[in-house]
Amino acid sequence: MRTLKLKGVIIGKKDFGEQDRLFKIFTKDEGKLEVIAKNVRNGSSKRNGHLELFNYGDFFLYKSTNHFYLNQCTTINEFPFLKSNLDTIGSAYLIVEILDGLTPIGEPSREIFDNTLDVFKRLEEKPLKNEILLLAYKIKLLSELGVLPHLIQCGNCGNNLAPRMSYVPEDHAFYCPSCIKKPATTISPTSIKLFYFLLKNPLSEAVKIKNDDALTESLKELGLFLDILIGT
Ligand SMILES: [Zn+2]
Repeated sequence: MRTLKLKGVIIGKKDFGEQDRLFKIFTKDEGKLEVIAKNVRNGSSKRNGHLELFNYGDFFLYKSTNHFYLNQCTTINEFPFLKSNLDTIGSAYLIVEILDGLTPIGEPSREIFDNTLDVFKRLEEKPLKNEILLLAYKIKLLSELGVLPHLIQCGNCGNNLAPRMSYVPEDHAFYCPSCIKKPATTISPTSIKLFYFLLKNPLSEAVKIKNDDALTESLKELGLFLDILIGT
């Protein structure tokens, strides 16, 4: 039997069988794993406190032929402030839902792991930066998964300097004002600039952006575009 010690973040949990729970843990070294925790639903298990959604910890697992089982775990960070604020809880739920929905089991990505841990830490420290953090996280995740264009350019003429671009989901493409033939989601120059900034910079830079009306508008525009890509 193979035993493993892995650092990871709990991104999903559900009841499993009579007494057990099935956890989804995004680990640093092995990517997303499904892990069965035996006998944790009788209320007396010492492990329960360590097994809350969003917790970051060390997980000691053993592997049978088909499944991973949880032996022990210790919490490194349970993000108490993140969990005491409805806005940051909402964002954290969206983050784990998208992460779980878009990543396959057992495919490690250090970049995705680091960004997930980083976004939780920053939500914990700066709850008012909730929206920009969520947007920046989505951009980084989609980019890492290869779903996102690194360059916003016209799908017809290749122009990437047009001030304003329109996104047509059916074509999975942007068009410049000269090439756009139908009504579409438009992305303003300010939003395009923000997109590139968030794509290229760490979350520590994203939280420095001032909350103002322009940002609110860009968050809306880019949020719409990303939601189309994510398919929500
Ligand atoms: Zn064009």
